[in-house]
Amino acid sequence: MEYISTRGGDRRLRFREAVLTGQARDGGLLLPAETPDVRGRLREWSRLAYRDLAFEIMRLYADDLPAATLRALVEGGCAAFRQPEVAPVVPVDGLHVLELFHGPTLAFKDVALQFMGRLLEELLAEGGGELNILAATSGDTGSAAIEGVRGRRRMRIFVLHPRGRVSRIQMLQMTTVADDNVHNLAVDGTFDDCQEIVKSLFADLAFRDRCRLGAVNSINWARLLAQMVYYFHAAFRVMERTGAGRVDFCVPTGNFGNVLAGYLAWRMGLPVGRLLLATNANDILARCLADGRYRRGAVVPTLSPSMDIQVASNFERYLHYRAGGDPARVQEWMERFRREGEVALTAGGAPLDDPVLRGGSADDEAILATIRAWWERHRYLLDPHTAAGVHVAERNLEPGVPMICLATAHPAKFPEAVRRATGADLARHPLLDALEGRPVRAVRLPASREAVAGHLARVIVGPQAA
Ligand SMILES: *Cc1c(COP(=O)(O)O)cnc(C)c1O
Repeated sequence: MEYISTRGGDRRLRFREAVLTGQARDGGLLLPAETPDVRGRLREWSRLAYRDLAFEIMRLYADDLPAATLRALVEGGCAAFRQPEVAPVVPVDGLHVLELFHGPTLAFKDVALQFMGRLLEELLAEGGGELNILAATSGDTGSAAIEGVRGRRRMRIFVLHPRGRVSRIQMLQMTTVADDNVHNLAVDGTFDDCQEIVKSLFADLAFRDRCRLGAVNSINWARLLAQMVYYFHAAFRVMERTGAGRVDFCVPTGNFGNVLAGYLAWRMGLPVGRLLLATNANDILARCLADGRYRRGAVVPTLSPSMDIQVASNFERYLHYRAGGDPARVQEWMERFRREGEVALTAGGAPLDDPVLRGGSADDEAILATIRAWWERHRYLLDPHTAAGVHVAERNLEPGVPMICLATAHPAKFPEAVRRATGADLARHPLLDALEGRPVRAVRLPASREAVAGHLARVIVGPQAA
């Protein structure tokens, strides 16, 4: 498989290069040059265990890796999960909950990052290189990235978080990791300060090269690849359970990575009726589906912080398909969006009219009501992100088509929301309880680019660098 840029950049890449490159050099995002049609293999695939299915799907896209290597990476990634089937599908009152939170940090990002950490380690060992992952987090992504990289050879990870502004659980999940290659930087500032610093360090090409900086953010193709697998696996389980010939999915959405993996699975031939994209009060994507206008707004904080996003970095990949693969069109849309903060994708405010994608949103009140109702009626605890999805799913059911709701986090990660919804302290998990009292490790730094750059250089290059 070869990979192209959404902006039409010159050279085609192989899988290895696509993973190590991350973002395309022309500023676009990388996508496979073709969509494999797997309809003829669905029957055979429906009998495979999660890890065997993962291997078959990934092999189509990572055909420049030796099969035995890919097999070992998939096995390792799956073994990091507490459930042998990795992502079980639980029937709850006519809906099907796809539990993606059985990994080390109790959030769906583990599915991709457990695979990706191992993949990067392998590619670095082949090339003899070394990589320093740099990331800013408002809470959730940081711990999943740290868990993916901890203890891996030839890699360090530096995660900036706004000191005192992440939840206690999130802080403990990041800072109690004792591996030498994990560096938590507690910055005296906001998440935006952290992100600005990271962006400006990546933009400084000389610094970036000297410190061999890299990223594991959600625009990396390897993350999407790992996420496609559970759409297939869940659809097979639910079709055999219900006898239905197709399924609907509902996906709590922020950066559009998760739902895009479902869209790609549908493009490959998975029988998906509708793919519902659920946002919280930050509903730019839901509105865009309704009126064809993609426009920037201010981010409002909600109970589902991992969906508090206005500009979804993966949306450009969807625009590529929307534009029929025409890079000039994608460039024009992205350029207009950058300049004017808004771009019309259809004429006269017409809906996007996508063959599978639909949108809906849930504000905090709807999220709390859904958590409460599911606890009272089904004794099933939802986290606030999953609850946003369930709220949208329940309003969009189609008779005869099973609905699979993606559960993106364990409720114990968001005990405040659960307490507000149910009035009780119900959300616990032994993994999180075990963090209390462990030694905490973080370096406190001012919110200044120079301070962070100096610290990175001292750790990576050595004391003489400062
Ligand atoms: C990251 C995240 C999301 C959003 O996923 P995207 O791929 O960014 O759309 C939803 N829920 C939780 C719990 C997350 O951590």
